[in-house]
Parts: sequence; C-alpha cells; structure tokens
Amino acid sequence: PRLCRATLGSLPEGVAGLTYDPSRITAGIVHLGPGAFHRAHMAHYVHAQMSRGQAMDWGIIGAGLTSFDARVREALAPQDWLYTLVERDDQGASAQVVGSIVEVLPPVGTGAILDAIDRPGIRIVSLTVSETGYCLDATTRRLDRTNPLIASDLAHPRQPGSVIGLLVEACRRRRDAGRPAFTALSCDNLPGNGGLLRAAVLEFAAQVDPGLGDWIATHARFPATMVDRITPVTRPEDVAMLTRTWGLNDGWPIVCEPYAQWVIEDDFADGRPDWEAVGVQFTADVAPYERMKLRLLNASHLALASLGWLRGHSMVAEAMRDPALERCIRALMETELSPTLPADLPVDLAAYQDRIVTRFSNRTLQDTVERINTDASINMLLDPIRDRLADGRPIRRLSLAVAAWIRRLALIEDDALALRHPLADALTSLARGGATGEAQILARSDVFGDLSGNAAFLTAVTRRLRVMTTVRIPARVML
Ligand code: NAD
Repeated sequence: PRLCRATLGSLPEGVAGLTYDPSRITAGIVHLGPGAFHRAHMAHYVHAQMSRGQAMDWGIIGAGLTSFDARVREALAPQDWLYTLVERDDQGASAQVVGSIVEVLPPVGTGAILDAIDRPGIRIVSLTVSETGYCLDATTRRLDRTNPLIASDLAHPRQPGSVIGLLVEACRRRRDAGRPAFTALSCDNLPGNGGLLRAAVLEFAAQVDPGLGDWIATHARFPATMVDRITPVTRPEDVAMLTRTWGLNDGWPIVCEPYAQWVIEDDFADGRPDWEAVGVQFTADVAPYERMKLRLLNASHLALASLGWLRGHSMVAEAMRDPALERCIRALMETELSPTLPADLPVDLAAYQDRIVTRFSNRTLQDTVERINTDASINMLLDPIRDRLADGRPIRRLSLAVAAWIRRLALIEDDALALRHPLADALTSLARGGATGEAQILARSDVFGDLSGNAAFLTAVTRRLRVMTTVRIPARVML
C-alpha cells in the first residue's frame, strides 16, 4: 500500500505503525529545513514521545526556504505527512512510520512561515538549514551584512528571505501582538550554534529596530545543541528497497544509522517537550559535548571524505575500510583532535572513537563521500587547526585533509558536486589554476579567516599539496 493515514491500519508486517492518532496532534514547533536530518533526528524524538502518549501538543510544521523543500512537500502531502524511517547497519534494519510532522508548508515566500509561527501553540522554531543558512562572515562568525540576502532583508525587514530576517520578523510580530517569545533551536553542525544564531539575530534586529533587539535579548532563547545521527540523502534505490523488502510505498522514506544523540542546553523561552523521556540529554553547558562531536566525528568525516575521494573511493564505508585511511583517521583523532578536547569530558574517548570508525564503516547506509565533501563546512577542520597552532602543536594530518579538500576542487569534473558554498564557483575556478590558484585559495580570508595569513598553516598545507601529485594519493603520504 501507499503510506497514508487510511493505510495505517493495514501496514505490511515488519513495519512499525503509529501507537497514537495523528489527527489528535496539535502543532508546537515550526521547523525550518525539513530535510533528511530533521526527519531522522528531531522529528523522530518527537515521534518517540508521542509513541509514549506524550507531547501531542508538540507536532511539527515543516517550513522550507529553498526549492528542495517544495519536493519534500510534494512527496509527503499525498501521505498525510507520514514517512518511513529505516534504521540500518550491518546487523540489520528496521522500519517505522513517523507521524510527528503535521504539515509541510509550500516554500513560496516567507509569509506562510510567519503566519505559521504566529499560530497560538507554537513555542519552538527549530532549524537545520546548513551553515550557509546562517549568513555568517567567515572571519568574524558574525552576521555577514554584505550577504545579498541579508542586505535585501535589512532594506525590507517585513518580507524576509533569509533565515535570520525571518526569525527577527517573527519576533517582531510576537512582540507587537503582546505574545510570548519563542525558543529558536539550532540543530545545525556549527560550533556554538545557539550563540551564533542569537548574535546574528540580535545584530539584525538592532539594525531595524533597537527596541526589538532588546526585546529579543530579554525574552527569546537560543539554546546550543549537539546533534548526531548520520543521515545520507535518500536514493531511488532506498525507495525501491522499502517496497521490495517491506511492501510499502513511500515517496520519500529516510534511511539512517541506528545511533542517535542529542544534547541540549536547557534554556527555553516558553516550555519544551520532556525529551529526557526519550534519551535526550539536557545540560547547562553543551560546549564540551559539541566540541567532542564536531571534532572527532565531523572533522574526521570530512578528512575521510576528502582523502577518500582522492584515493578513488565513492562510498564513506569503503574509504573507512581502506587500511591506510583507517590508520590515518585513527591517528588524526588520537593525536591531533582528542588533545584539543576538554580533559574532564565524562566520556570514554577511546570507545567513542572506535564507535565512530564502526559508524563510518556502515556499508548499508550507502553514504557517499560526495555528500560529505559537498556539504561539510571546512570550518570543521579549521577550528581544531587554530587550537593546535595556538599551542604550537603539529597539524600533520589536519593539514593533509585541508590540502585534499583543495585538491579535490581542482580535480572534480562536475561543478554541481564541488561544494554547497556561496563561493563554490570562484573556488573551483581558482583551484584549477594549479599551484598559483591553490595559493590564492589559501589566501582567502572569506574561507580560511585568520588562518589565511598564518605562516605555519600556509606552509603546512602547501607542503602537503606538493606531495599530492597523483589522484590516487599514496598511503605513505598519510602516515
Ligand atoms: P538535506 O539536503 O536533506 O536538507 C537541507 C535542508 O536545509 C533543506 O530543507 C534546505 O532547504 C535547507 N537549507 C539548506 N541551505 C539553506 C539556506 N541557505 N537557507 C535556508 N535553508 C537552507 O540535508 P540534511 O541532511 O537534512 O542536513 C541539513 C543540516 O543538518 C546539515 O547542514 C547539518 O548542519 C545538519 N546535520 C546533518 C546531519 C546528517 O547526517 N545529514 C547530521 C547532523 C547534523
């Protein structure tokens, strides 16, 4: 059958259905960026609570700002917003229907999103809009007022096109209506995600209405979060697999690993679901967890994907199973990344690293190095490099990974796969200019921030670029 409310009672055997009535859910959350990750992570946690008979007033309205989101709406509308989440690893797979999303708005302007945020029950506006959605300057990590979207929103703040402009206008409408502020919950992989979002929103608000900036600072909340669950792009084969294996038709199922983690700073403006009940950790300070995750997982992921691409791998799992790369990534974690973490983390770091290697080796996910290379922010590598250099420590493998990131831009043939980055076109054309072009990339402060003028960084990366003369980079270079 095609998944929808009418077929919930006759789901094929092996697919877990809903234990709650989706028609009884009311919306409490507007989520910006209802992509794969949101549906594997936050929507899943809300669903897990609803499955326990809780949080029925915390349904999610998905709201996108890009054409990608029109496709999400097209796929989910005929299914009454239901979708299947398949958790898969080398031990097996399970399929469950998720019903926590109550609607996905059409991405036509932001008027409908603002109206949705105005609805009475909405207390959280959450985000997974990737780093570029925050419109930050590469060096200062503050709002980039030269970003065309931001410049346009500052001129027309009541018709915002950017995420930041949208949040500010939503807050203005709340204040003017005499209603409580909401919590803006960033779930993107950005160090200090909540604080960066808050600073960008306040800076924007202060430009358009200083009183509004003060109101937001006093009443709205921007908790930091650490989010973790590897969620690849859904492939046509996954849709076919669901039909073949489980006998269920779903226009856009989500496939992810069984592992999930979510740590949230417990600072909300107007209440929150009791996510503790479903394994979410709340803490006063997310920073140590976030640093551990962004450094050990995301930095290694990008290093593995960049180096793996140069060694001819297209799948993350195959790259991780390449013995030379496994040695390199383990050494990167142990000797270059772990030493930049707080000493008193209540986590067994050796076990955490082992688990990352196992998670990256998950063949059943069919995750591509291309996805990581295209989407992951180079800042994942630059932040630990800054710490290492400040302590006068070597950046052997970190610089190798940055060199691989640059060299890939020179070699990639399909521009559309190069990078999801505002400067993608400029960077690929520079990278194709040989050593001179690569040096020009390294000198760009809009990519490398302060490191673009750091002699130790430039020397280390340039030296690594010089030894990468072939596409299939030799194992000895990674030692
Ligand atoms: P996806 O491609 O499935 O969805 C991306 C979503 O972000 C879409 O809804 C899109 O409209 C929105 N978006 C992208 N750029 C935007 C912009 N400039 N302005 C407004 N909206 C924008 O990707 P995904 O897997 O859902 O990942 C989204 C984000 O989630 C990542 O960038 C990352 O920060 C975070 N995340 C992903 C994973 C993962 O494994 N996929 C894990 C942890 C965190």
